[in-house]
Amino acid sequence: MENFYDKPLRYIKGIGPRIAEEFKKKGIEKIWDLLTYLPFRYEDRRDVVPISFLKYPNKNYCIKGKVFAKEFFRARYRNLTIVKIAVFDETGFLTINFYNQPYLLDIFKINEEYYFYGKLRFRKEISLENPHFELVAKPSGKIGKLYPIYPSIGDYKPSRISLFFQKVIDNLPEEEPYNLPEEIMEKNKLISLYNSFNFIHKPADLENNENGRERLSFDEFFTYFLYLAIYRKMRDELYKGPKIEINEEIRRKVKEILPFKLTEDQKKVLKEIVSDLSSSKPMYRLLQGDVGCGKTIIALISSLIAYENGWQVAIMAPTSILAEQHYERFKNILKNFNYKIEILTGGTKQKKRREILEILKKKESIFLIGTHALISEGVEMPNLGLCIIDEEHKFGVIQRQILREKKLVPHTLYMTATPIPRSLTLTLYGDMDISIIKEMPPGRGKILTYVRSKEKIKEIYSFVEKKLKEGRQAFFIYPIIEESEEFELPALEDFLNQVKYYFSGYNVEMLHGRMDWKEKNEIMARFHSKNTNILVSTPVVEVGVDVPNATVMVIHFGERFGLAQLHQLRGRIGRSSHNAYCIVVHNDNLTEEGKIRLSNFEKIKDGFELSEVDLNLRGPGDLLGTRQWGIPKFKVADIIKDRKILLMARDSAIEYLNKKGLEEANKLLSKLLNYWKFKEVLI
Ligand code: ADP
Ligand code: MG
Repeated sequence: MENFYDKPLRYIKGIGPRIAEEFKKKGIEKIWDLLTYLPFRYEDRRDVVPISFLKYPNKNYCIKGKVFAKEFFRARYRNLTIVKIAVFDETGFLTINFYNQPYLLDIFKINEEYYFYGKLRFRKEISLENPHFELVAKPSGKIGKLYPIYPSIGDYKPSRISLFFQKVIDNLPEEEPYNLPEEIMEKNKLISLYNSFNFIHKPADLENNENGRERLSFDEFFTYFLYLAIYRKMRDELYKGPKIEINEEIRRKVKEILPFKLTEDQKKVLKEIVSDLSSSKPMYRLLQGDVGCGKTIIALISSLIAYENGWQVAIMAPTSILAEQHYERFKNILKNFNYKIEILTGGTKQKKRREILEILKKKESIFLIGTHALISEGVEMPNLGLCIIDEEHKFGVIQRQILREKKLVPHTLYMTATPIPRSLTLTLYGDMDISIIKEMPPGRGKILTYVRSKEKIKEIYSFVEKKLKEGRQAFFIYPIIEESEEFELPALEDFLNQVKYYFSGYNVEMLHGRMDWKEKNEIMARFHSKNTNILVSTPVVEVGVDVPNATVMVIHFGERFGLAQLHQLRGRIGRSSHNAYCIVVHNDNLTEEGKIRLSNFEKIKDGFELSEVDLNLRGPGDLLGTRQWGIPKFKVADIIKDRKILLMARDSAIEYLNKKGLEEANKLLSKLLNYWKFKEVLI
């Protein structure tokens, strides 16, 4: 027999085709879908308050009163009708106003007793405004209890929607749609789904509803992590990685090319990578490390090892500026050695492109650096042994591109300077191995951060000038390209002219994301070679750009940037032995949240710590970059609020798979996936 939870919505009395259609637009088709559509808050309509006890304006109250007078009139000035009724209980009298609902005049009957629930107002008199009401003799179940408020669906208001929930809850069978294994229920102290749904949709108190929600969160996370764990295991069993070994000769070569001594963290990470490369499974590793910690050299050494083993290596960067920069660095560090290094971007000439494709086809070793052009049509890398992806968060998409249908999968190393809090890392990259570099290379100057009001701009600019005179360079960051009326910001070009005017004896140039790659590269080259003193730029310089002599950064309209972005920007400076200065200039009309954000930025240097703060301040949806990371959308679970549950569910999922094996785990998963669905999964 069909499970109650699987029945279509139409099964519920009162849900006709029109309503069902609206619900469908929200992804609600089955009774299960409705049950997991949660109220976003509860109104406490439990206590009926005697009229004479009504006290606080703007607070919601529930009262019980008998109607003794009613009247209808139009407001004089505005197009407004009012139905005014007067009620009383043992303790006093109260006026109740309904606006623009003239039909109510006939509905209320003198001497009938009603419950009213609504907001108390103090105007000329004390009154309840537009309250909910129901006959005491004919209660509809909306008053005298905790009342769940659901997000509206189509034209259907919360009160209408809640009716359907009540109907479903009243018919809920104790039998559950699926069962989690007993040991998981016990270990995590899970309550039954039957209780959860009752607690959520028909709560007796405000604690229980949260317990109900948490059980659902657990299940949703559990399904997700079981899915990831199974996927990972299958991938490991299915695919082989290229065998890449390190030997004495390679070791010697690495030593020879190294321009500096590696830090302890760099050594540790390199060891982890080398061990991945020499195992038969394809590496799937994320290297996290704050800007400037030295990830590039790790990429280069790993590439070198793969190359020396006769493989092709691809290094992918998100922009042509960065690809160009990697290319230059590779060439520079390897200049005394005979390695084939090429760059492929959207701007690569046809002739060069054909030449590169020919090398790839012939399976000759190569370091191929590039942008997304590397995975564009026509680029085949039959001998790809290692693929390094820098600052690119659409991991899943790229992984699919690389995998296609091969049995031999290249080792893949992702690198990011975006410090992602642990709870998010687990959700996002649940099946990736993670390496972290915390330590900065030695001999760096300090980065000093100052948050200042716009009024101080003269002082700031004369400080900048002092640094320019010492031979340093500066970034001026500006939030937009075109004029914005909404934020009253002039266009980038006008801003550039102001800066040029102020710093008239210096070379000032502009950089933004809409320039073509050639122009950008030329501008960056001039900045690199110190021809340009000040680079006025939109946040395109955010990722990866390395100009050690630029030790000053002034971020204009700093309140317009998120913490993660500010942190990324700050990472562009402080790459030399000189002290570096990051000055955030803001408008005076800062919001409360803006103040907290900027003062945290001033105080906290560590990216991971900042990312936690950011997460708490704004939630994952707003975290810069999370949209592009493609965090899976959870229906019930909340990655911030339910961080603890996330960890429990993850551990349980992994433990279950290890104990029961693939077949059993897959069975459970397929049951769960009937109910918990993921739109964006990472593979
Ligand atoms: P990111 O991790 O942001 O990509 P980079 O790889 O660009 O950092 O490194 C930042 C700078 O630090 C580069 O100029 C690089 O040459 C230098 N660097 C990296 N590792 C070391 C080290 N162990 N000792 C000295 N300098 C280093
Ligand atoms: Mg980098």
